[in-house]
Amino acid sequence: MTSGDEVVVALDVGGTEMKCALVRPDGATVHAERHATDAARGPEAVVGTILDVAEGLAGKARADGRTPVACGIAVPGVVDEARGVAVWSANVGFRDVPLRDLARERLGLPTALGHDVRVGGLAEARLGAGRDAGHVLFVAIGTGIAAAHVVDGSAAVGAHGAAGEIGHILVRPDGPPCGCGRPGCLEAVASASAIGRRYAELSGAPATAAEVADRAAAGEPLAGRVWREAVEALADGLATGQALFDVATIVIGGGLAQAGPRLFEPLRTALRERLTFHREPGLVAAALGDEAGCLGAALLALDTLAKESR
Ligand SMILES: [Zn+2]
Repeated sequence: MTSGDEVVVALDVGGTEMKCALVRPDGATVHAERHATDAARGPEAVVGTILDVAEGLAGKARADGRTPVACGIAVPGVVDEARGVAVWSANVGFRDVPLRDLARERLGLPTALGHDVRVGGLAEARLGAGRDAGHVLFVAIGTGIAAAHVVDGSAAVGAHGAAGEIGHILVRPDGPPCGCGRPGCLEAVASASAIGRRYAELSGAPATAAEVADRAAAGEPLAGRVWREAVEALADGLATGQALFDVATIVIGGGLAQAGPRLFEPLRTALRERLTFHREPGLVAAALGDEAGCLGAALLALDTLAKESR
């Protein structure tokens, strides 16, 4: 279907930055650039930048003798992939933005719109740490916690574009308030932000989750307690995920995965303790870093192209 010089224009739009690339059908990135999102300008200005950057990338591809064949855009929040609409996003300010059609009109290319974590999971499952696993749960842990359930290379979207919100599994009914308005959600206890917040609350001194992990490893009791509580909550959330999805591999991405063995060793043990008849999944760190979203947007665009040409 696709040949050597064909590329996909791929954008991963985050709250602070847009990661953009030209990606070959085999997943190789031939050009990458980053731009500030500057969400404070408002959604219309952000959409304008997305379209300008996408058009610029398509032009760059042509100037380099390549053929842009499709465009893939990943955004955070609630995304209706079937309609190509960014339904809602707190950190970019989108409300019902028909981003797919806007990009298709501007670029004249088949375009796909996806959810940032779902396409990140798609990339990890097909090109990264979940390669060959078949059934993968990708869990991104950063300021929040979200997941993608990928089966045979395609991610479940849900009936309303909101599948994978594992961060809002109730794990501690008496726990701290979550951004969604309810107390005790997984991300209110175990996201990187929540870990820093909890430590600050107990110690009176601010700290990042990475610093809490370092101090816990160095034997500081308070940091050890905060880290342990977060790991236990994460294990509760992942055990629920495993009960629902029975995956072969759980891939952990996002900032918290940087903690490496300090996270993975206790988390693996705590997860094992919670599983009874369920088979234990592999638990591994994401392999594609912050390029996963961009690669996944490209994969989604290629999938759309393949469907349209059938
Ligand atoms: Zn919540």
